[in-house]
This record gives sequence, C-alpha cells and structure tokens, in this order.
Amino acid sequence: MSNSPTRREFLGTLAAASMFPLEEEKAELILHNGNVVTVNQKEPRTQAVAISRGRILALGSDADVLHLATVGTKKIDLGKKTVLPGFIDAHSHPAMAGVMHLRMVDCDLRSIAAIQEAMRERAAKTPAGEWVLGFKYDDTKTAEGRPLKIEDLDAAVPDHPVHIEHRGGHTVYCNSLAFQRAGIDAKTPDPAGGKIDHDAATGKLSGRVAESARALLDRVIPEKLTRDDHREGVKLISKMLAKTGITSATEAQGTPTDLLAYQDARDSGDLLYRAYCFINYRYIDSMIAAGVRTGLGDEWVRVGAMKMVSDGSISERTARLSTAYEGRPSDFGIVVMTEEELYTYGKKAHSAGWQIGTHSNGDVGIDMTLRVYERLQKESPRHDPRFRLEHCTVVNDGLVERIKALGAIPTPFSTYVYYHGEKMRYYGAERLNHMFALRSFLDAGIRATQASDYPPGEFVPMMALQSEVTRTDMKGNVWGPKQKITVEEAIRVGTIHGAYASFEENLKGSLEAGKVADLVVLGRDPLKEDPMTLVTIPVERTMAGGRWTFEA
Ligand SMILES: [Zn+2]
Repeated sequence: MSNSPTRREFLGTLAAASMFPLEEEKAELILHNGNVVTVNQKEPRTQAVAISRGRILALGSDADVLHLATVGTKKIDLGKKTVLPGFIDAHSHPAMAGVMHLRMVDCDLRSIAAIQEAMRERAAKTPAGEWVLGFKYDDTKTAEGRPLKIEDLDAAVPDHPVHIEHRGGHTVYCNSLAFQRAGIDAKTPDPAGGKIDHDAATGKLSGRVAESARALLDRVIPEKLTRDDHREGVKLISKMLAKTGITSATEAQGTPTDLLAYQDARDSGDLLYRAYCFINYRYIDSMIAAGVRTGLGDEWVRVGAMKMVSDGSISERTARLSTAYEGRPSDFGIVVMTEEELYTYGKKAHSAGWQIGTHSNGDVGIDMTLRVYERLQKESPRHDPRFRLEHCTVVNDGLVERIKALGAIPTPFSTYVYYHGEKMRYYGAERLNHMFALRSFLDAGIRATQASDYPPGEFVPMMALQSEVTRTDMKGNVWGPKQKITVEEAIRVGTIHGAYASFEENLKGSLEAGKVADLVVLGRDPLKEDPMTLVTIPVERTMAGGRWTFEA
C-alpha cells in the first residue's frame, strides 16, 4: 500500500507546479481502457486518465491520452473497469472513530452472546482492574431482542470495569464494577438532563446510563491517549476509509487535538484522505484570537466550519420535531443549544469569516438554525458563506425554500435508510417522505452531500448509493420512496457536492485536468447495476493525490 505525500513532498509539488505549467509536465501514470465517469458535464464519459505530481494532467480517449506517454510513464490497463472520482464523506467523525477503534472493542455484533465473548476476550488481555471499553453497540440489532443487562456484563467480565457506548453515542452500558468505581448504586439520584436506569421489577441498576449521567462514569475512566495515539487513530481509520473508495472526509466535531492529529498523520505519510476539520464552537474564541478561520491549511488538512448543535439525534430518537414521535404522543425530542446561544457563537464566527455547520435534525431544530443564519446574513451580509445544516433530516416545503434562498448546504445521512431501517418506524410513513430528502433538495437546486456520521452511520459509499436510490433497508422495507434519486444523482451528491460543501469544487469532486488525482476503480459499473445490489460492488483500488491508498 502506498501513502499520501509527506509534507516535504507536498511542498515540492507546489513549487514544481508553479515553475512549470501543467501542459509541459510528463505523464507519470496513465490509466487506460477504462469506463471513466468524470462527473464533469462537459465530458461525462471517457477512457483514459493521465496523472502527474498528484494531479490529473489529461483525460480523453485511449489514443489521445496514451500519446502523452514517455519512457518513464507507467501504464495500467483498466480492462474496461469503471472509474469514479473519489468519494467525499461530508459529515463523519473519522479521527474520533480511529482512536475508538484503537482502544475499544467494536460491539457492532448481532447477539448479546457475541458481545459477551468479544468483551471477555479483551478482558483476558487486559490487567485485572483496568477498564474494558466497547463501542458501536446497537440495542435494535441483537438476536435476543432485548437490551444488554448488567448481569450479561458481570457474567462475561467480572474482574474489570466495563463501559460500552451505544452506537448513537448518547447512552452507555456498564457492569457492577464500573458502577462501583463511579460511586453509583441503586439509590443514586438522576443528575439534571440524565438518567440512571433501574430494573422495573427489582429496582436494581439495569446497567444503562443515559445522556448527562454518563459524565459520572467518564470522570473515572482514565484518559490515557497520547499525541501518538491520535496520529495512530488517523492512520487506522485512513485505511478503513480508503478501502471503501473515500478520498476526503469532514471531521464534523473537530477539536484542536484532531487538527494536530491530522497534521501529524499527514507529516508521517499516514493520512490517506483529505480532512476538512470542523472546530467545535467551544474553541472558537481561541481560534479567532489566533487569526485562524475556515479554509486555512492545505489540500490534505484544512480548517473547516465552526460546529454547533441545535437538537438531538435521529438514531436515538431525540431530534426536535413539530409533531410527536410515533406511539409517544408527548415526546417531541430535545433542543440542545438555545437560539440565542446559536446566534451569539454564530455571530462571532460569521463576522470572523468562518463557515458555520450546525447539527439540526428535526424540523424544529432546522427552523431555529435557519432563523439564526438568516439573521446573521441580514445583519452582516457575506458573499457566499455556504452555511451548512448538518444532517438536516426532517424537512418540509417551507424549510426547503429557505435553504435554497440562503444557499445553505444540507448533509443528510446517506446510509440510514438501508442500515438503520428498524429505527425508521418511530418516524412514520408520512414523515419518512420528508426525511433524508435528497429528491426535494436536488429538485430545488440545493447541493446536498453524502454523509455517514460514522460511527453512528456506516460510511461505505456504495451502501450510500443503494440507500439513496432504493430507499430500502436490509430487510426489504421501503422508507420514504418519494425521496428516491437516480444513481447518477447519487454519484454527484457523493463527489462534486461534497467538494462544494468545503469550498473545494475547483480542486476535487470531479475528474478534470488540473484537479487532484482522487479516484476509485470499481469492479462493476454502478450505472448498469441492479440498484438493490449496489452495495456489493467491489472497490478494487482507491487513489488520493496520485497514489494508490488501497489496492485489493
Ligand atoms: Zn456527527
């Protein structure tokens, strides 16, 4: 496996590019005899791509492009395989997920027994008394049809405190030793905004802890991560993303630690995707004071938008809705930051030239965020601020019109319908036709993106395509069929729209001469595939900046 350029090589590329015009460069690599889908309307299909110094030198027919070959040119016959631009995951948490994969047990397993076994195995390799941590547990996906209990964890791991995070990130499951360490017993009262669950029959701790009550446990789990661990996390997740055809991703809840980890991974050659690193609003004052704003960085690591949160989550059913959840008539979800808070932080960032990305899932949350954006733009108009609505899940015609008028960018969950189908029933058939509303966005001319939100959602781009095109889950249930889009549209959503969302549409997102050589070679053509099997299309190779980041 080859690596992304190191810092020195990258700077070398820049210097060389400014000394020699692109036309005079020699083709280092030519991919030919391919079915190249460019996502460039001027030349939608072609056969061959010439690459030099990490960029696309030329595209065209085999005859035209092979003509550019010189003695040193490497040629690869694609055997008619399909080439697409590399995929852009516009909302994900890769650096965070990377360190979680490093230190935690992946509990995305299909039975409680399998989770017990995985935790037992990790405990056997962990000194007694030290924490055994898990993540990606999903109570709706295990064969037993019931949530994990404290007894399950005590039986599997009696001598280590155990802490398992739910996939959605808002609840955790623990064993008795963990509660003992945290000083929690059956009589401990719920803290404000949190819940310590009890067994309804016995009144004993059930093992589940929700929302702010998680802090009681967090404070007793030692934070042992070093600067190197964070770089290693990026290295690990880089390989996972490259394998699926992703060449760029947004770190949607970024911190200064993430930004540093990305720079470290870039310099060590371990960063295999281009990172657009959001900065959480809590750090915005120090960032502005240091003269930092959105766009600072280079083609591999760039400062993204300031991140805020208006409401709750879709997968854990806390998004703020105007009409109640199905079967829960008094439950409308929660508001996380008030409109005044969103405005106060938003004003600082907007005035300092930052892009803003606000997590807004429910129609009430989206309405509130739009009101803040509209006010900011009215009070201090900025050319092309590209406000982002992170997730922007439940919409209506009025919201879509306002998004269009503002030029804002929604980043809806791309794989939820396919992967989290069992959670869709909480929203009801009618509402589903207004959720992850790509059809409505595209019809209005809004540049919505592909976005996984990993770890809560799966990041595989071919799964995103299948989910968006079929609106069908793994079991064959259809959710919100009015929002279906075509494969061709889904590819644009996953490439050029993602580039636009980070102001980089002139750099990447389509295959054009002068753009970066970020692409993916697929085993089959998604445009000719049965939409119900798109997820099975194999990724054969991924290239970022002219180097193979994955080869099957
Ligand atoms: Zn997120």
